[in-house]
Amino acid sequence: MTTTFGQKPSQRAAPVAASPTTKAGKQAIATEMLTQLKRVYPDAHCELDYRNPFELLCATILSAQCTDVRVNMVTPALFARYADAPALSAAKLEDVEEIVRSTGFFRAKAKSLVGMATRLVERHGGEVPRTIAELVALPGVGRKTANVILGNAFAINEGIVVDTHVQRLARRLGLTRQADPIGIERALMPLIPQEDWALLSHLLIWHGRRVCSARKPACGDCVIAAVCPSAGRPT
Ligand code: SF4
Repeated sequence: MTTTFGQKPSQRAAPVAASPTTKAGKQAIATEMLTQLKRVYPDAHCELDYRNPFELLCATILSAQCTDVRVNMVTPALFARYADAPALSAAKLEDVEEIVRSTGFFRAKAKSLVGMATRLVERHGGEVPRTIAELVALPGVGRKTANVILGNAFAINEGIVVDTHVQRLARRLGLTRQADPIGIERALMPLIPQEDWALLSHLLIWHGRRVCSARKPACGDCVIAAVCPSAGRPT
């Protein structure tokens, strides 16, 4: 018998005596979770298509309340017409709206894209900056987007991307009781080696999409069930 990922049950994590009620327990859960998810998802990566930091920034802005699959259907046309910040900054808003319409909230997203590109041209020589402070000053860019850009486009681990999957799994694993993304990010940072911060988000997102879904988590097929305090009774 094999699981969804071809892992025999005997290959799953051995039970680890860990309780999320103590700092040491949280650390044990986080360490085992990281080890097991690295093993089953050796190719975990950002699922948005991009060729450079500018494209990743555009794609990440479009990914708000939208699937990566849908964004990847839209961005080829966007990048074919507006290849860089100067081109996008000079775009007509209604033209951008038309291209990004299917990603939802298209008026706000088009405004953010053109505003972001304009600021890149005016303040950063058309290039994407490499600090959180400069990134979050761009229209349409919050801490989550800034962390996506730094971690993936520049391999700078300055924070942890907390999306809905990271949020749900961190809580189910007992690593935090926080509900807000910044509180969750702060709780995760001391538990995970800094060089793995960007990877951690990919691993949790991949696991959330494939096994630990919001509505029907497949705890029986989960390689971290042995250390998950919510196994069999997720909330
Ligand atoms: S055991 Fe269940 S609740 Fe815990 S991480 Fe795995 S799928 Fe999610």
